[in-house]
This record gives sequence, structure tokens and C-alpha cells, in this order.
Amino acid sequence: MKFWKKLTPEERLNRVQRALKENVDFSKDANLGYPASRLDEKVFANESLFLREMPVLNTYIANPNHIGCHTYGTSEYSFKGTQEIEREVLDMIAVDLFKAEEGAYDGYISPGGTEANVQAMWIYRNEFMKRHGAKLEEIVILASDDTHYSIPKGVNLLMLEWKKVPVDEVTRDISREDFRNTVKSALEEGKKYFIVIANMGTTMFGSVDDPVPMTEVLEEFEVPYRLHIDGAYGGFVFPFSEGENTINFTNPKISSITIDAHKMLQAPYGTGIFVCRKGLIENVLTTEAQYVEGMDLTLCGSRSGANAVAVWTILTTYGPHKWYEKISVLKMRTNWLCKQLDLLEVPYFREPEMNIVTIRSFAVPEEIAHKYNLVPQTHDEGNKWYKIVLMDHVEIEHLKDFINDLSSHKKVPVK
Ligand SMILES: *Cc1c(COP(=O)(O)O)cnc(C)c1O
Repeated sequence: MKFWKKLTPEERLNRVQRALKENVDFSKDANLGYPASRLDEKVFANESLFLREMPVLNTYIANPNHIGCHTYGTSEYSFKGTQEIEREVLDMIAVDLFKAEEGAYDGYISPGGTEANVQAMWIYRNEFMKRHGAKLEEIVILASDDTHYSIPKGVNLLMLEWKKVPVDEVTRDISREDFRNTVKSALEEGKKYFIVIANMGTTMFGSVDDPVPMTEVLEEFEVPYRLHIDGAYGGFVFPFSEGENTINFTNPKISSITIDAHKMLQAPYGTGIFVCRKGLIENVLTTEAQYVEGMDLTLCGSRSGANAVAVWTILTTYGPHKWYEKISVLKMRTNWLCKQLDLLEVPYFREPEMNIVTIRSFAVPEEIAHKYNLVPQTHDEGNKWYKIVLMDHVEIEHLKDFINDLSSHKKVPVK
């Protein structure tokens, strides 16, 4: 890990304060041109020492705008201090965690995983249209049945079409055969350009798609394609597996990755992360964004620099080793839960190395599902699954109560 290091509280505070000093200070300097200011001081006073010692809240109050993309070209001069922190945190994620070459990627802290996924599809749609003269109706999105709804949302916005790739009912895997058949039928319908989304942890199952057979099949057909990894949920879990993770930029076929910091990392909402290889993001350059220095390559426009500082602060509080430990504890709790379910002979799905357990709904009485706030696959009729996500606040005590309730319902004594 070249960039991701654990820092002391003093080091973190000093680094963020230095960054804020390098930004314009709305509370001191003459800043006449901005349609913005620090947060309203009647509501968000920054007088207490307590607040001054909290780098993230401090940054919220200073209210830097990270509009635009700070890995590419020039950026708004006024917030260069905290933009540098954003670049530091992107280096930790893109280079250290997902093995991009230093300086060989672009990216930004997006408002969430949804935007990061839409950003990816938008880039590739425009690339196919600009470089290959593709027509809208010739571009298709391929993603599994278990894919997050941000994909169909983006498909709708971008006026594309989504071909769902079926998954196995039990293993949640995409078979090579099913993928090949989906590509074939897309070709028969006149599709020529393929944007593939592979999941690094689906929302409902935590299942991880192997992107290798997908790209092998696309290469059999010799069609132009781009591959995006949706690691919104699993991006801070799966790379901390026992074995070596190969779903990263060491695979030359992977062009971009979405990772959410506001899920596993427990950052405040508004912290998705988008990273892609160099040479791609300019496909969504909005040249009309002329009042923004360096112009805009992102979907959202204005966004808070405090979100970047929040992710930076979390990562430097843990450092990679503590984070690995934290994920290991969650996986041990997941193992414990799976073992209890095995003893009760309750059927479930769990992706090894992930911390989601998705249980067959027939094995969980509705009142128990309700009592423990299990999330159903669908809120409509015919729900087949309930999931348990082993987040930080889900402890063995809670799981024990749940297992006890399940077993007294089944009238099986707990071992
Ligand atoms: C949560 C999630 C998203 C969307 O993220 P938001 O941050 O809610 O916009 C996308 N993909 C997957 C797999 C997710 O779990």
C-alpha cells in the first residue's frame, strides 16, 4: 500500500486544516463571485473547540465545492486544498485497493453508487457513439438478473436497452452458456456494442460475478465491449478476501469500478466513488460548463468536498490492516450465523468472503422477519428471500436471538 496509511488523530487534523487553509475561506477573505458560502452560521456555528477538532465536520462548515473532476486537467482554484485530499483518497482506492497504475486513472467522489454506475454507462455510450458512430439502438447493457436497480435507471435515462442475464437459482452464478445465449440474442436483435456490468457483491445476495468468462465470450464474437464493475456494496469487503482478488485494474479488460463509501465504510450519505482508466472520462465532457474552471466531467455538478474528507478520514483512521481486521470480524460473525442455519437446516445463500446471508423466505415466519427487520427481495407478493447484512452493528447477541426465535418456531432445540 503506497498511499493508504494509518495516521494519528493529530496527523489527520493537521492535514485537513492545512487543506482548508489552501481553500478560499468564506469567513475571512473577500470572495465576491461565488453563488455559495460556508454553511449558515446561525445554524452551523463553528465556535466550539470540540468542532474544530473534528476534521470532517469542520470541512462541512467551511463548505468547499468539489464541482468537476480533479484527476483530469485543471480544477477550480478556490478549493485546491481539499481537492488534493480527494486525489489522495482516490489514490488509496484506485491504486492501493484496485491496483490501477499511479496516474493512470480518473475518478471522483460521486453522490452515490447510482451516479457512479450511470456515469460509467454514460461514458461508454458516448464513446461508442463518438468513436464508432454507434446508433443508440445498437448499444446494449448486459447485466445479471440480480443487478442493482441503478442499472435499469441508467438504461432508461440513457435510452438504452438492458438484456438481463439469468442467474442460477441456487448459486446465483451466471453460466457461460447463458451469457453466450444472451449475447447471441442481442446480436440477432441488431445490437453491436456491449456495455457489461459485473457485480462485485449484489445488493440482495452479495454474489460476485466472475468477469472473465463474460469477456471471453464477448471476444469469441469479436464485438466491441466495455466492462464496468459494480462494487457499490462489496468494494470494501471482497478485496479483503483470503485469496488474491483479481477483479481489479490488473485485469486489462476492466475499464471502471463503482465503490460506495456510505455502505460498508459507514461514511455519511453522498459518498459513492467512481474510478476509470485514463482516456475514457472525456467522453462525457460538458464543454458548455464554461464557468467551471477545468470544465465538468461528472454527472452531478456541485458536490461537497466534505464527503471526500470523510472518506479520507475513515481510511486513514483504520489503515489497511485494521480495515482487514474489521472485515474479518464481520465475516466470522457471518460464519457463525451460517453454521447455526446449517444446524437448523434452514436453506440460505452466502457468497464466500462476503458478509450477506440470504435466507429462503419459506423458512422464516413473517413475524420473525418483521421483528428483526430482515429485508425481503421484493415487497410485493411472492417474495422468495430475506437477507441479513452483517454490518458493524449486527452482533452475535442479535443473531443469537434471531436463531433462538427461528428454532423455537421450528421446535428444534438450539445446540
Ligand atoms: C447500493 C448499491 C448501488 C447504488 O448505490 P446508492 O449509493 O444507493 O446510489 C448500486 N449497486 C449496488 C450493488 C448496490 O448495492
